[in-house]
Amino acid sequence: MDLRINDNFSGNDYISTEFLRKLQLARLQTMVKHSYDNVELFRTRMDELKVKPEDIKTLKDINLLPFCKKTDLRDTYPFGLCAVPMSEIVRLHASSGTTGKPIVVAYTQRDLQVWSDVMRRALCCCGLSKNDVVQVSYGYGLFTGGLGAHGGAEALGATVVPASGGNTKRQVMLIRDFGVNAICCTPSYFLHLIEQAKELGIDLRDLPIRAGVFGAEPWTQGMRERLERGAGIEAFDIYGLSEIIGPGVAIECNQHQGMHIFEDHFYPEIIDPDTCEVLPDGETGELVLTTLSKFAMPMIRYRTRDITRIITEKCACGRTLRRIDRISARSDDMFIIRGVNVFPSQIESALLTVQGTTPNYMIKLSTAGNMDNIALDIELAQDVYAQGEAIIEQIRRMVTASVESVTGLRIKVTVVPFNSITRSGGKAKRVLDNRIR
Ligand code: ADP
Ligand code: ZN
Repeated sequence: MDLRINDNFSGNDYISTEFLRKLQLARLQTMVKHSYDNVELFRTRMDELKVKPEDIKTLKDINLLPFCKKTDLRDTYPFGLCAVPMSEIVRLHASSGTTGKPIVVAYTQRDLQVWSDVMRRALCCCGLSKNDVVQVSYGYGLFTGGLGAHGGAEALGATVVPASGGNTKRQVMLIRDFGVNAICCTPSYFLHLIEQAKELGIDLRDLPIRAGVFGAEPWTQGMRERLERGAGIEAFDIYGLSEIIGPGVAIECNQHQGMHIFEDHFYPEIIDPDTCEVLPDGETGELVLTTLSKFAMPMIRYRTRDITRIITEKCACGRTLRRIDRISARSDDMFIIRGVNVFPSQIESALLTVQGTTPNYMIKLSTAGNMDNIALDIELAQDVYAQGEAIIEQIRRMVTASVESVTGLRIKVTVVPFNSITRSGGKAKRVLDNRIR
């Protein structure tokens, strides 16, 4: 049994739990020492807590270590959390950073190998192999989605079509002409692809495409049904974030009962976001991840802000890796309206229970007098919209009622004409916040 970090980094989804825990501990100890020795911020925090790397004797001792947050990456922009000299760093990525400076992440050659390997295993979970043609329609560039999925698909030996985002009509053509079997992109972008294909008179259900590897943004069961039905595919939820590695942290298998975490590289915990107390497996809270084998920029107890729970029951697929539930929400996406906490995903699931609706919607927040106001614009399926006022009004009322029953809020719903809500090439923008603060 060789637990050294330099060996066996390709990992194994069917590893025995006993071996996995030993491997995790050995890797955690190496990671903590590496971070302590090379990252000032981490060392200072550990010193403040009077914890030394040698104090990590069991996996539970991870509890002794300080947390790390997105602001730590911002505050040390660009390279403050790097744990290796620049000469060892072979790739940089940056996350979108909607406000202020982006956050930068770095990889050594070996980190990139780990990344493409977890991504390769992720694609295996979707039943893909070297015999498949995989189109990568996540954006290439600083965003981790494109190159991350690309590396995995190549490591798998699949035929990769590096389409990147945008130019949607051409993407449809590539899917048809190249006999694409699987696509990696955001769920909202795939919805857009289905619409564009229709406009071109192409029915994706008639083509060999059979799998969608969808992630980078929250999506609901209702959205899954629309995508699967609309294109005749099986949709797989994939989770990842730049700070940890990019896409390939966790993914669904063919059972679709939560996402297996590649635990040999990423150690999960769930905490209460208010008290930071670690919650037992099964309870819902904020996901905290520790990288076990990333050397350029190790992340110890990184608070993802993503809300989920750990599923420990054995999966019917036989993988021994624990699972996380669908990411129901990202705590930063939550808004409070009239004292009620609302997540966009709640509105999406309420909306999609109503027949004739589409997952094209925009939540609009504004200030009216002293009050925060919320409104919802939705688009209907084109053929339903064409049926005229009476039907449109009926659906509008049903959506209003459905949203009210889920959120407790009576929201003004407006049905807007087809294609009036902006389609995104990557992560969809679901909330337009014009509140005066
Ligand atoms: P940014 O933080 O700028 O959006 P990333 O591209 O690294 O940069 O995004 C990672 C985030 O995207 C995750 O923390 C999570 O909130 C969201 N995300 C990624 N995959 C999924 C998924 N499958 N389901 C829900 N949310 C996801
Ligand atoms: Zn499984």
